[in-house]
Amino acid sequence: MKQISGRFLVVSLALAAGLVRAASVMESARELPVAQEVDVVVVGGSCGAVAAAQSAGRMGMRVYLVTSYDALGEDLAGTLRLWATGAEVESSPLMKAIFAGSSASNAVAYTTPLAAKKALDAALVKAEIPFLTGTYATDVLVDEKGAVAGVVMANRSGRQALRAKVVIDATPRAALARRAGAAATPFPKAPYAVRHVVVSGRAPEGCGKVIEHPEWQPDRDLLKLGKNAAFKPQLFECELSVPLDGTAQGFAEALNLVRDKTFTFEQLDAADRITFVPPDRIVAVKPSAAAWTDVAALNLESFRPANVSGLLVLGALGDVTREVAAELLKPANGILLGARLGRRAAMDIQAQTAAAAGPASLRGGPGQEVVAGEVREVSGTLTHPYAAWSGKVACAARALPVLGQTELLIAGGGTTGGPAAVGAARKGVQTIVIEKLYELGGVQTVGMICGYYYGHVRGFTAVIDEGVKAKGAVRSQAKAEWYRSEARKAGAQIWFGCMAVGAFMEGNQLKGVVVVTPEGERGVILTRAVFDATGNADVAAAAGEETEFYPVEELNGQGVGMAVIRLGAGGHNNDFSYVDDTDASDMSFFGLRTRSMTEAGWDVAQLVNSRERRRLVGVFQVSALDFYTARTYPDTLVQYRSRFDLHGTASGDFFWSRQIRGVNHPILEANVPYRAHLPKRVDGLLVGAIGMSATRDAMSILRMQPDLQNQGYAAALAVALALKEGCPLRAIPVRKLQEQLVADGVLPQGAVGTPDSHPLSEDLLKLASAMVRVNYDGLQFIMADPQRSLPFVQQKYKEIDTHSSGRDPAVSLLYAHVLALLGDATGEDELVDWVSKNAWDAKWDEGLDAGVNRMSAYILALGRIHSKKAVPAISQRIAELAAYKYVRPEYCRVIALSAQLIQDPALAPALKSLLDAPGVSGHAIRLGKTIPPVEGYSSTSDYRQKSTEKSFTLREINLATALFRLGDAEGVARKSLEAYADDPRGFYANYARRVLQARAEKP
Ligand SMILES: Cc1cc2nc3c(=O)[nH]c(=O)nc-3n(C[C@H](O)[C@H](O)[C@H](O)COP(=O)(O)OP(=O)(O)OC[C@H]3O[C@@H](n4cnc5c(N)ncnc54)[C@H](O)[C@@H]3O)c2cc1C
Repeated sequence: MKQISGRFLVVSLALAAGLVRAASVMESARELPVAQEVDVVVVGGSCGAVAAAQSAGRMGMRVYLVTSYDALGEDLAGTLRLWATGAEVESSPLMKAIFAGSSASNAVAYTTPLAAKKALDAALVKAEIPFLTGTYATDVLVDEKGAVAGVVMANRSGRQALRAKVVIDATPRAALARRAGAAATPFPKAPYAVRHVVVSGRAPEGCGKVIEHPEWQPDRDLLKLGKNAAFKPQLFECELSVPLDGTAQGFAEALNLVRDKTFTFEQLDAADRITFVPPDRIVAVKPSAAAWTDVAALNLESFRPANVSGLLVLGALGDVTREVAAELLKPANGILLGARLGRRAAMDIQAQTAAAAGPASLRGGPGQEVVAGEVREVSGTLTHPYAAWSGKVACAARALPVLGQTELLIAGGGTTGGPAAVGAARKGVQTIVIEKLYELGGVQTVGMICGYYYGHVRGFTAVIDEGVKAKGAVRSQAKAEWYRSEARKAGAQIWFGCMAVGAFMEGNQLKGVVVVTPEGERGVILTRAVFDATGNADVAAAAGEETEFYPVEELNGQGVGMAVIRLGAGGHNNDFSYVDDTDASDMSFFGLRTRSMTEAGWDVAQLVNSRERRRLVGVFQVSALDFYTARTYPDTLVQYRSRFDLHGTASGDFFWSRQIRGVNHPILEANVPYRAHLPKRVDGLLVGAIGMSATRDAMSILRMQPDLQNQGYAAALAVALALKEGCPLRAIPVRKLQEQLVADGVLPQGAVGTPDSHPLSEDLLKLASAMVRVNYDGLQFIMADPQRSLPFVQQKYKEIDTHSSGRDPAVSLLYAHVLALLGDATGEDELVDWVSKNAWDAKWDEGLDAGVNRMSAYILALGRIHSKKAVPAISQRIAELAAYKYVRPEYCRVIALSAQLIQDPALAPALKSLLDAPGVSGHAIRLGKTIPPVEGYSSTSDYRQKSTEKSFTLREINLATALFRLGDAEGVARKSLEAYADDPRGFYANYARRVLQARAEKP
């Protein structure tokens, strides 16, 4: 398994010999879009960074801030160094805001991660300074004179440029200064004293020193201690000595070494980051050897790198003594220094000593030990006010460092990636897992969705459960730690805070993943196989594979939430919005908005809990009808089990038929084949988690945690087998894999070697065509093979005439409906007649848990046959709805969909009357000096939120889209769509822009 060949071996040897820096890959020349042009860009989200942004803003500068962390306050909320002396609290208005309402006792005040993040958010929002979290600044732009002229950022939306006259580098390792060519003193490889803070019922053992904080008395609002966690939460600051060498791998390993020592059974929370006084500094214009007095005494030229124009360094990497550096790590001092540097940046700009406007570019450079291949990446969107696109910048061909190499790289260490890491490492596969956040487990740990909903609790899931139970009292903490410690024990490397942002390819072979590290380094990890467990098919999309997210026909999604964390809580599950996980600004804004609406609690989770994300369209795409027809496969990898749990409206027409929703709530068992994880073209890649190849309806059955855990494990076994057999992932002996899965209890023996039960037999389709007359029974078989079923349904429709009691109109209507869903207009007149003679019947929905009623079902069916005859009847029904006090969103959905399918401009006046109905339009929002809350949101309740935002926005957008496409004579629809195109919620903005753009591009 450890055999590697050719060039890979050369690179491996170079890496093993400590020559990592020598190996590189070449990124070809390309252009990046300019997202924004501002005066000052602040990189980093520390308290000091926020103060710098504020003070530059006060001087009239246009400012933008980006941070790789998922909220502001990485030096305080990220380190859990939540305390300050009274004097420190009084030292600045920002410190006062961070500690407002804090539990102060004697001389020490304590805040919470949530309070700190909210205070920092509010400072920037009030100053109207846009900021993006989850965004890594990886490079600097330079102008023609070589002065710094902005940065390049990498995030879920791809890479974009930010033009700026001055960059304030507030990253912990002065990453941008280094990129700009600043000289730095060496980082000697040695053991360093680092600190790590944990909240626990018991002091960690095995640390060099543990400082207790007996003054810390958490309010009851911060706690939700379950019966397993009946202990007193305490705050511990642990000091340990760990080896560091200044490399990405070194920092990744150090965080893990520390966690090995600080975890306790009673852990309630642990800091994401360690703190230490960096031994190195950036060589500045004016080095200072002065001892610490206060921030006011510092010479700001000690923070201006020598020979670099247009950049200032904020933090402990300034050219000051290490004693001063230690002082600057304190948020209070960081704020005072940030405020001074923000002013200085503004003064530089006013004095025109900073970079003048002019073409900016990203410089290139050759590499050594170049590994052949091509760097690919996604290009995505950012919403207003985060982007006001203006031109492009040129990026010269350049070398990217090889940061590591492995046999298996797991992108995303979440619900699926965590078990995959443990499974692969236990099978002896050399594994690196890169995880954007600072814990493994994703939604089930960071996201605080800590309980199973259905799924098969067997196989590797049973192994996990047993281990987690013994690991800790609080499930979210124990599970994250179980994955982490077991993966490490088995030899896997875990790189926290590290994001996959691209693919490194040679032809169709995936040879590596482009990553960004928390230290701001962008490079490549070479690998023989990748398991894309991002749940968003990030690597697949970057590699150029086909993916899907928005349904083509309409805007539709599944509810998204974000947990409010109380120490010791068993979870928090909610649903109040929609989010586009491919849009970095949407993710950032969603976090900001949720924090702003949350009054109390310890923290708000760092993970956006999205139920539906981008998915691969792979070799095989699983559909919900596969489950409803109990499909079997020869290559079943995992079996899934759930109720149909779509948090939204289904897309498939099957779900739009009378009573389907009424009978579909039994538990479904679902086989999924190995091929649903294989991309069509790219080799060396398996795509899993909720980014696998399945339709959106299907994912509502496939996304349960117990099954995804087994999926991760099964994917790990597949990679181990491919490496062992020396064959491509798409050519593994699947039977062997299945037998291993049976042995491990993941699959039952009966699932092995079964033939594909599709195509369905003709007899079955005939039977279904007959059965369907009774409450649509068997419709799933018909819909699973519409083309072959059609003649049988047509036959049954004809046979109604032969009944001795005459043609039964109800049965005839039912067949007319089914035929229309199959695209056959034979029964059009009956359907039109029914729609014209009946009214909306709200009672239909009662007790049925239905997304559609009979009128909706028939209107959709008429859409499917593009019925022009139906236009007067549908217009009549729309007029009726427009007169209602409350216009039901479910009804509007089919109206919009059908109108677009029928494409008759005669429907436009009726659509406009709906858009004009009270409360239907005007739900787009703007980000100003305040953040509009989600109406009805409650930070304490679960997914039974009273919020209507989700349904009202979809209702408006889908109606506006239909009207826009049918001829929007008065521009009402355009106005609505344009408002959404400028909405900070990317889910809506991206769709609205797409609709507007499609029209603009029409010849
Ligand atoms: C609100 C909500 C409630 C739910 N309730 C339940 C329930 O009660 N019971 C149940 O069984 N299921 C429930 N589910 C379903 C289930 O929890 C999810 O389907 C499942 O956790 C998703 O797992 P995943 O591995 O696909 O994604 P995740 O768990 O999100 O894992 C993906 C990981 O990848 C990381 N990542 C993403 N992109 C990158 C990148 N580019 N580079 C590096 N890292 C990256 C993320 O940080 C994350 O850690 C719920 C889901 C949601 C959203």
